[in-house]
Amino acid sequence: MSFGNRFKQLPKQHRTFILIIFGLIMSLLLLPVSTSAPQSSDEESFYIYQVGDRYSLKLPPLISSENKPVKSQLTSEEIIVRSGDNLSLIGKRGNLSTKTIYEIDRLSSAKRLRSIYPGQKLTITTDNKGEFVELIYPYRATESLYINKTADGYNTKIVKNQIEIREQFARADITSNFWNAGVKADMPPKQIMNLATIFGWDIDFALDIRAGDSFAVIYETQFIDGEFVSTGNILAAEFINQGDKFQAVRNKDGSYYTPSGRSMRKAFLRAPVNFKYISSSFNRNRRHPVTGKVRAHNGIDYAARTGTPIVSAGDGKVIASAYNRFNGNYVFIKHNSNIVTKYLHMNKRSVKKGQRVKQNQKIGTVGATGRVTGAHLHYEFLVNGKHKNPKTVSLPKADSLRGSEKTKFVSDAKIIMEQLESNAKLYTLIGQ
Ligand SMILES: [Zn+2]
Repeated sequence: MSFGNRFKQLPKQHRTFILIIFGLIMSLLLLPVSTSAPQSSDEESFYIYQVGDRYSLKLPPLISSENKPVKSQLTSEEIIVRSGDNLSLIGKRGNLSTKTIYEIDRLSSAKRLRSIYPGQKLTITTDNKGEFVELIYPYRATESLYINKTADGYNTKIVKNQIEIREQFARADITSNFWNAGVKADMPPKQIMNLATIFGWDIDFALDIRAGDSFAVIYETQFIDGEFVSTGNILAAEFINQGDKFQAVRNKDGSYYTPSGRSMRKAFLRAPVNFKYISSSFNRNRRHPVTGKVRAHNGIDYAARTGTPIVSAGDGKVIASAYNRFNGNYVFIKHNSNIVTKYLHMNKRSVKKGQRVKQNQKIGTVGATGRVTGAHLHYEFLVNGKHKNPKTVSLPKADSLRGSEKTKFVSDAKIIMEQLESNAKLYTLIGQ
């Protein structure tokens, strides 16, 4: 038995471990001889590797065995769609007769062939007599149209392309800002946003990220024929923010929970503006990234460009949407019997008094209306009429998983968090 086969028979965690050790040895071999030189503090350290294949969707057989022609008799033409192409022109390039093209065109499934666009590839197969055998049209990355001809006539079907889902691991130390760290760790932009969404109830990504924060994540990536087609789900993630550790694991219901089964989703977002709009990144000489801090005027200021979307921090009802010369355009939202959030100096308001709003729903945009020196959102959080710091106020505990679902989740979460933690440790070691 070859080493490759033996390797494949090992349990997945062993395989991962062997790959990590192999990677570690290779990395050590490649390290410069002198390790005393100080590392550049401007560089984010990042690591990415493929943990392993998760699973694949298998294709059904394209042509059933009883009518499958002998392979050597077939000729396949790959046709690349050009500007101005149609089924007739493509059929001719695929050596089809006018009669065959007409017959295919009359099939109801041929509708898709009228939406072809330049650059797409079709494959037309004919037999040794030049008779049509099969047409394959992958009209999108994940689906293909198959038309084939047998003695009984034409068969058509839509086939899901084989999607290979790979798990990837990334970890980064944040030195300038969260977004840059994600990019340097080779994470797709969508996954960077997803990561911020998962932890957005615990961490204010706009104002509270600091140099020295770090994260580690295991996420899925989808491939077809070895080519990247789409990002998948984040499976597990850990974020260390100003010394506090937050962990999240995806449950099969698509929601995220702490490893002990408590929902990541909470009644209030930590920040009513998306971090990606907050202009400046922090540096070591300045404690706060922008003007943001709890000030004597009982609010938090988020400096952002005019027009930046503002969202409701939680579900609730608009109790004020108006203008005055101090607040400028402002919106107040009442969330339950005792919590009110206030949003001031808006450029535009997009909700009316009395309207119900959902968490994360856009309520207006950042502006510089009222008594202000520059564009920013002034945000207040009141409990029983008293101003509180929304970052530290204690909020209702999040829902938890229960019963057998919880038992299963907690045991699965333990395994994937161990995998994430051990990967993160190894890569931290290499990075130092
Ligand atoms: Zn303010």
